Amino acid sequence: MRRQKSFINDFNTLYLVATPIGNLDDMTFRSIETLKKVDVIFAEDKRVSIKLLNHFDIKTPLHTYHEFNKESATKEIIDKLMSGLDVALISDAGYPVISDPGYFVVKEALKEDINVVSIPGANALLSALVVSGIAPMPFTFFGFLDSKEGKRRKQLAEFSKQNETIILYESPHRINKTLNNIYEVLGDREIALARELTKKFEEIITGKVSEIKDIEDIKGEMVIIIGPNNNEEVDLELSLIDAIEREIDNGLSEKEAIKTIAKKRKLQKNTVYMEYHSNKK
Ligand code: SAM
Repeated sequence: MRRQKSFINDFNTLYLVATPIGNLDDMTFRSIETLKKVDVIFAEDKRVSIKLLNHFDIKTPLHTYHEFNKESATKEIIDKLMSGLDVALISDAGYPVISDPGYFVVKEALKEDINVVSIPGANALLSALVVSGIAPMPFTFFGFLDSKEGKRRKQLAEFSKQNETIILYESPHRINKTLNNIYEVLGDREIALARELTKKFEEIITGKVSEIKDIEDIKGEMVIIIGPNNNEEVDLELSLIDAIEREIDNGLSEKEAIKTIAKKRKLQKNTVYMEYHSNKK
């Protein structure tokens, strides 16, 4: 067991400092004060963080900690903490541990009994969740799905077994593919896309997956919130087309197979008909 009284000790501290996800006015007083008072800041990308530090007139020395140097940088961070310095870790946006490297150094620091303190602030998933109108709890936050379609489907199929809101991060160039995968694997659920949060072009798009999946010209950083299943047991490992074809192989006519799968997946019969006829092998 380990107990940490964060502010009642003489130890040096590793501060995990949240930074804005777009709007610099979301920087907190405490974040600025912490970044000014520590001896060194470790950032994911110096070019991004230098702009933030300059904006708030923070002159603390800046080092890098990112996915590809996290082991050597962790050693450096722990050495500095052990030698009596305070260190802050920031990422390009939001919390340094959420879909960002950071977990590694936190785990190692805790092993060394180092004081680890969170300085809260902006974060994309919670900002999206609260405006989505989708049940906020329970939820599963997954971050980014795999970039390979097969793996992405498998990951989505795992979610079908649980009845919770699902939160994903996604990049604009893959959004339509991912929405189509969601439609095929999880069915026509309620969904919210929150893009460019806190920025000028912030937009929240809500509706059924079928209404949103082929949306065009959708740019920027985005969060996907998928509503929970109102469930019936469905074999969601299969794509829509494969599921229909399996029913046909099992002896149903094409029409009956489409009707059965539409009912099982809570989709419109016409939509399934059209999907099947434009994509069947
Ligand atoms: N550490 C961050 C956090 O606490 O939210 C997340 C960093 S992750 C590398 C970047 C992803 O977060 C983006 O691809 C996008 O999915 C999401 N994101 C970050 N800023 C966003 C914003 N302003 N609006 C919507 N999504 C955002």
